[in-house]
Amino acid sequence: MSLIEKTVLVTGGSRGIGRSIALLFAKEGANVIINYTKDEEGATDVIKEIESLGVKGLAIKANISKAEEVDKMIDEIKENFDRVDILINNAGITKDGLFIGMKERDWDKVMEVNLKGVFLCTKAVIRKMIKQKHGKIINISSIVGIIGNPGQVNYSASKAGVIGFTKSLAREVASRNITVNAIAPGFIETDMTKILPEDVKRNMVETIPMKKYGKPEDVANLAVFLSSDKADYITGQVIHVDGGMAM
Ligand code: NAP
Repeated sequence: MSLIEKTVLVTGGSRGIGRSIALLFAKEGANVIINYTKDEEGATDVIKEIESLGVKGLAIKANISKAEEVDKMIDEIKENFDRVDILINNAGITKDGLFIGMKERDWDKVMEVNLKGVFLCTKAVIRKMIKQKHGKIINISSIVGIIGNPGQVNYSASKAGVIGFTKSLAREVASRNITVNAIAPGFIETDMTKILPEDVKRNMVETIPMKKYGKPEDVANLAVFLSSDKADYITGQVIHVDGGMAM
């Protein structure tokens, strides 16, 4: 599944699932660009690891929900790389709370990063992909975008939006040799899930047929497969990585 000479942009690559995806792409021989907003130390460490594998790495500080920051990020990418072959829209946030008390700003913030961020980053690379007649776009959604979750109305709506986005765009660009797929992880052990109360985590594991949480690498393996030529005839799909949680 060689990705030698390919260039991938992984949003939110400083920690968690994005970090794992970035490192696996580097191991497969791809040049890797990551972005982040706060975790400069994490991003620097990821780039060091990427470069130690003999490929090019670049970390760019950019908030994916701001058009001007995405534009600047793309300018910096153009200065350093000829093309982006693969886009992994991974960066995402939660602002959980029951709907009855949910603040408008917590709705807006989650939508801006999780959904508008996907729009802006995809918009920034798709023209070039159309011109080069090749591209792979992978959007990290969530199973809660499919089955819902109390306390996550904003997050679930954003992740369901990502699925609609994926399917519509897949139809628009299929004839241009660009595939667009979504990955719907279940409960993956990262900073995002670490903050959940212990009793919530215990109850959650009971709802997973495999009775264990997933690891970031479980998601990374699928992202790499979907980006490889072995997945050239797969588009518009939402693939679960969830130990059977939603089926
Ligand atoms: P995480 O550990 O919290 O990491 C989030 C990453 O996104 C960090 O690198 C963070 O960088 C970056 N980020 C956040 N806001 C950003 C912004 N506005 N612009 C650019 N980068 C931003 O999260 P994770 O668990 O790895 O989740 C990764 C993706 O998987 C998310 O889309 C999440 O919704 C999805 N997901 C996760 C799970 C799970 O169980 N963990 C399940 C289903 C889906 P900074 O810290 O520098 O901001």
